[in-house]
Amino acid sequence: MVSRVIPVEVFDLVIFGATGDLATRKILPGLYRRFYGGHMPEEARIIGCARSEMDAAGFRDLARRAIDEFVDAGKHDAAQIAAFLDRLEYVPVDATGTSGWPELKALMRPDVVNAFYFSVAPALFGEIAERLHGHGIAGPDARIVVEKPFGRDLASARALNATLAAHFDEHQIYRIDHYLGKETVQNLMAVRFANILFEPLWNSQYVDHVQITVAETVGVGGRGSYYDKSGAMRDMVQNHMMQLLCLIAMEPPYHYDPDAVRDEKLKVIRALQPMAAGDIVRGQYRGTGGKRALSSYLDDVENPQSRTESYIALKVQIANWRWQGTPFYLRTGKRLRARTSEIAITFKQPPHSIFDEADHDWRENVLVIRLQPNEGMNLKVMIKEPGPGGMRLVQVPLDMSFADALGDEGADIPDAYERLIMDVIRGNQTLFMRGDEVEAAWAWADPVIAGWEARGERPQGYDSGSSGPDDALMLMHRDGRRWREIRG
Ligand code: NAP
Repeated sequence: MVSRVIPVEVFDLVIFGATGDLATRKILPGLYRRFYGGHMPEEARIIGCARSEMDAAGFRDLARRAIDEFVDAGKHDAAQIAAFLDRLEYVPVDATGTSGWPELKALMRPDVVNAFYFSVAPALFGEIAERLHGHGIAGPDARIVVEKPFGRDLASARALNATLAAHFDEHQIYRIDHYLGKETVQNLMAVRFANILFEPLWNSQYVDHVQITVAETVGVGGRGSYYDKSGAMRDMVQNHMMQLLCLIAMEPPYHYDPDAVRDEKLKVIRALQPMAAGDIVRGQYRGTGGKRALSSYLDDVENPQSRTESYIALKVQIANWRWQGTPFYLRTGKRLRARTSEIAITFKQPPHSIFDEADHDWRENVLVIRLQPNEGMNLKVMIKEPGPGGMRLVQVPLDMSFADALGDEGADIPDAYERLIMDVIRGNQTLFMRGDEVEAAWAWADPVIAGWEARGERPQGYDSGSSGPDDALMLMHRDGRRWREIRG
C-alpha cells in the first residue's frame, strides 16, 4: 500500500523543555520518524529551549542519542539522521527569566507555521505564554501545545485556562491527551461513523454494558512523589479514560470537524450522573503476590500514611436517551496482571433463541477495541460448531490486528505524539481537548474525589500482579456481570 500522507507546511517548532524526559523519549524521536517517512518538509526547523547551556551541536548530539535509543533500528539511516539533525537549533532560555527570549525571536521565521510545545512543568505554562506574548514572539496564528496535567481540580484548570486565554485564543491552544493520538482511538470514530453496521445497535436497547480498562504492570517507580499528589483518578480517569468514554458515548457529530466533535464530547461529560460512593472502588498495591517480594505503594511514596489510589474502578452512568440503563465500567491501575488498554462493548442477548439451550453455551456478542498491545479490534460472534452431530453453537472471535490487516503500513502505525504534533502543524484541533471540555471533566471528578476525602476512606490493598482489589470484582458481580480478564 502506498502512503498517501501529504507533507505538512513549513514550520518552526519550538520545544520548551527540549532536554527533558518527554522531549527525548517521545517528541524528538517522533519528529525524526515523520522526517524519515517523508512527511516533513525539508525547510522545517525544530528549536530546542531549556535552561541548560549548550549550542546547536550539543542539542543535535542529544537528539542523535534519543534517536539511537528510542527509534527502531530499521529506521536508523545515517544520511536521514544527519539531514534531520541539520533541522535542529537550540537557544538557552529560562522560562522565568529574561535571558534567551530576544535570541529566540531572532531565530523565528514569521512567514512559516510557528508552534511552541510546552514540555515543561505546568507551573511554567503561564510564564512561557506571557513571555512569548510580551516579547512579540508568538503572532495571532502561532500555536501552543500544552502537556498534561491540565490542572488538578476545577479551580486550577480554570486558572490555567484563564492564564493561557490572556495571551492566546482558544483556536491557538492545543491541549495534549496522547490517548487521542492513538490509531485505535481514532478508529473508534471510523468504526462508528463510517459503517452502517454498529451505529443502529449503539444504544441502551442493544448494549448491555461497556468496560474500559487501562492496566499497567509497573508501579509508580521513581514518579512516587508526583503520583502520590495525583492518584489514578486524576492521572488517568479525568483525562484519558474520560476521552475514551466520550468517543464511545457521543452522538454523531455533523462533520469530522474539531468543534463538532468536541461539542459532542462535552455533552457526554455534562450528562454524567453524580457518582454514588458504592460505585467507586479504590486500591493500593501491596508488595506481595508475585514470586518475589516487590515494594508496596507505601514503600514507593514519601508518605507512609498515603491514601492515594494506585487503582480505581468506577461504575459510570450517562443520563441521556441513548445510554439510560447502560453502565460504563472503568478501571485502571498499576502493578496489575498485564499491560493492556481496551474498550469492550458487550451487546445484549437476542430477544428469542431458536436453538435448544442444551446445544450451546450462549455468549454475548462483544466488540473489543484494543489500544495496546497490538492495536486492533475483535468481534465475538456465535457460529455453528464445525462438523457433524447437529446444530451446536460456539463463540469465535473475528479478529483484526491492524498490523496484520494493513501489511507494512499497519506495522508502521505512527506513535500518538508524532501524529498529534503533525496535527498541530496542520492546524487541526480535532484530537485536542478544548478548555470547556477539560473544565467539565474536572467538574465531574471534583465531587467524586471530595466525597472519598470527606469519608476518610482508605484504598483497599491488592496484590501486585493481580486484577485489583476484591471489591472491584464485586462492583460487577452485584450487577450479574464480570470484568474481562486482564491479559497482555
Ligand atoms: P523533565 O524531564 O523534568 O524535563 C523538564 C524540562 O524542562 C527540561 O528540559 C528542563 O531543562 C526544562 N526546564 C525546567 N525549568 C525550566 C525553566 N525555568 N525554563 C526553561 N526550561 C526549564 O519533565 P518531563 O518528564 O519531560 O515532562 C515535561 C512535561 O510533560 C510535564 O508537564 C509533564 O507533566 C508532561 N508529561 C510528561 C510525560 C513523560 O512521559 N515524561 C508524560 C505525560 C506528560 P533545564 O533543566 O535545562 O532547564
